[in-house]
Amino acid sequence: KNPNGNYTVTLIEGDGIGPEISQSVKDIFKAAQAPIEWEPVDVTPQLKDGKTVIPDEAIESVKRNLIALKGPLATPIGKGHVSLNLTLRRTFNLFANVRPCKSIQGYKTPYDNVDTVLIRENTEGEYSGIEHVVVPGVVQSIKLITRRASERVLRYAFQYAEQVGKQKVRVVHKATIMKMSDGLFLGTARKVAQEFPGIEFDAELLDNACLKITTDPAPYADKVLVMPNLYGDILSDMCAGLIGGLGLTPSANIGEEVAIMEAVHGSAPDIAGKGLANPTALLLSSIMMLRYMGLGSHASKIEKAIFDTLAEGKTITRDLGGKASTSEYADAIITRL
Ligand code: NAD
Repeated sequence: KNPNGNYTVTLIEGDGIGPEISQSVKDIFKAAQAPIEWEPVDVTPQLKDGKTVIPDEAIESVKRNLIALKGPLATPIGKGHVSLNLTLRRTFNLFANVRPCKSIQGYKTPYDNVDTVLIRENTEGEYSGIEHVVVPGVVQSIKLITRRASERVLRYAFQYAEQVGKQKVRVVHKATIMKMSDGLFLGTARKVAQEFPGIEFDAELLDNACLKITTDPAPYADKVLVMPNLYGDILSDMCAGLIGGLGLTPSANIGEEVAIMEAVHGSAPDIAGKGLANPTALLLSSIMMLRYMGLGSHASKIEKAIFDTLAEGKTITRDLGGKASTSEYADAIITRL
């Protein structure tokens, strides 16, 4: 909290559509009189001793404020600097990535009862970045799983389930094939589950989970799904597809001290600068942020204005079948506040 009684939040606007969707969040928060002051920082990568790093000012801002809202950052494919998203996760040890997907009234998809919460281990697994050439034409990529990181994300999943009132935690895995790595994750889950007797625990194979969720998502509404990194990456986009795509899904990166909320989608270079972007995912991420900060009543007020605007369906963006620009949609939300 700063001397004005407001909370200072680091704002990483991001690349591509980032500045446009960040503007919507700023305008809506201002109109809603949310007690937030934004501290914008630049995270354009710098090379330091041959490594890609985030500018010190950005790191200091996040460390000072302990909370940040982040737009998408573009990552070059293949060679070049390491993903900035990965760098941020590592710098702040953001060990859990929480991705809720809930059907949105007014946007018709094959299901209207999706209510999944997926927690992805965010620091290791296939994303450890340990790859090398064995001999020319043969490369090896190492999936690293540690008991420590598994325990941390699993414990968080149980705590999160308690917080949001979900009755069950389910581990999604492939321990039938990855006997040691996923086996360690699953074994650790069984131990952590004993600390939470009030929450039911079970496990499901990843392929089966994909089949079942897309067949009928309803039985997943009472569960928090928790899984190693890559599975979480893929499965969460699949769940996003069930509710209407990436324009609608928020996420929270939780660390031991710092939390960074961000939309699941990328920088959408195909529509950047055209006023076509849907800011809902970043807006819902900022709602997760307000709740995390204990500002639940502000969160609910803004959330209701968003959902009512979507449900009415008159002023929605093109990805949802509407005609509104990013700012026209934001203005419609502001009118409802
Ligand atoms: P993307 O999510 O940017 O775009 C995929 C498709 O969804 C595009 O057609 C895009 O127009 C559409 N889309 C995405 N967000 C939208 C929104 N808010 N409103 C309307 N339409 C939206 O994925 P991509 O094209 O694979 O990646 C582009 C860049 O973003 C890459 O550099 C990638 O590395 C980066 N990326 C960053 C993050 C992140 O910062 N967390 C996540 C994913 C991808």
